[in-house]
Amino acid sequence: MARLVCTVCQYVYDESHGETSTGTPPGTAFEDLPEDWTCPVCGAEKDMFVPEEDWAEGNPG
Ligand SMILES: [Zn+2]
Repeated sequence: MARLVCTVCQYVYDESHGETSTGTPPGTAFEDLPEDWTCPVCGAEKDMFVPEEDWAEGNPG
């Protein structure tokens, strides 16, 4: 399962863990989240998330 990073606040959504604060059960793929799902920390839309490996490459330091 993948991990995705919020490019606004660096919150990490881990598909294998889900997200208890938004009622998302463990094992929920990011693409299966509702269209209106937003970052539980900063409220950013799904468009603002990138795969963790892409974030690491584009983020020096
Ligand atoms: Zn965020």
